[in-house]
Amino acid sequence: LPELPEVETVVRELAPHLQGRRILDVEVDWARTIQQPQEDIDLFCATLCGLDISGVTRRAKYVILELAQDNATPWGACLIHLRMSGRLVMQPTGRPEHLRVTWHLSGRKTLYFYNMRKFGRVWVTRHPGQVLSELGPEPLSAAFTLPVFEKRISQRRGMLKPLLLNQQFIAGLGNIYVDESLFQARLHPKRKADTLDKEDVRRLYEAIQATLRQAIAKHGTTFDGLFVRPDGETGRQQEGLAVYGQADLPCARCGTPIERITVGQRGTHICPVCQPLV
Ligand SMILES: [Zn+2]
Repeated sequence: LPELPEVETVVRELAPHLQGRRILDVEVDWARTIQQPQEDIDLFCATLCGLDISGVTRRAKYVILELAQDNATPWGACLIHLRMSGRLVMQPTGRPEHLRVTWHLSGRKTLYFYNMRKFGRVWVTRHPGQVLSELGPEPLSAAFTLPVFEKRISQRRGMLKPLLLNQQFIAGLGNIYVDESLFQARLHPKRKADTLDKEDVRRLYEAIQATLRQAIAKHGTTFDGLFVRPDGETGRQQEGLAVYGQADLPCARCGTPIERITVGQRGTHICPVCQPLV
């Protein structure tokens, strides 16, 4: 948490507030938040001050503030990874001691980065592609076709759950949407990738895309109160989850109680009837 749909929600909802704003001042309250230039608060702030935010985009689970000089010359980007508990909001909505970075912008706008568990990271770089170079394909991009997925999965042998969590295999999925996608595709998380037939792969491909699209439409999942949208509101997809966090509740498809198992050290939710380990 947050995963692709939550980060996409953050990006879409931040963009109208941030686009075209100039960064006037930056405050950092926890040096280890700054991954590049590593733990150098002064250089981080000096680099950002005076640059303009020309766009707000996403790659995998990264928020990308595209930067420009004088609103025209591309400069690079400020990347933000929320990790477990990071929040990007347009007004103070967390405990003051959890505030790590504050961007003061033109037009009296302020962007706050809260991070209770301190795992979130921020980069400022002229070459964002270097930070993002290891990532696999975007599951909702036009380039991610069924033949592309078929080819990638045919080269793998491991269990499906850790494979889908691997950001180099496919970008943006985490524990929630892997469990949901595997349920929708009726595949057990311990199934080995090399045991899938063509029909299994097609169902998994379609399930991943449908699961992510539905979660984006619902503005993401707020589970354990960790994810909030830039305006402080919660997501609504928690009401639409089929298996994640639903242990002991009846499967919506067959009525069997949902089980919580462990796969590759991750808590995992399945319907034991709909997702047999064949
Ligand atoms: Zn079931």
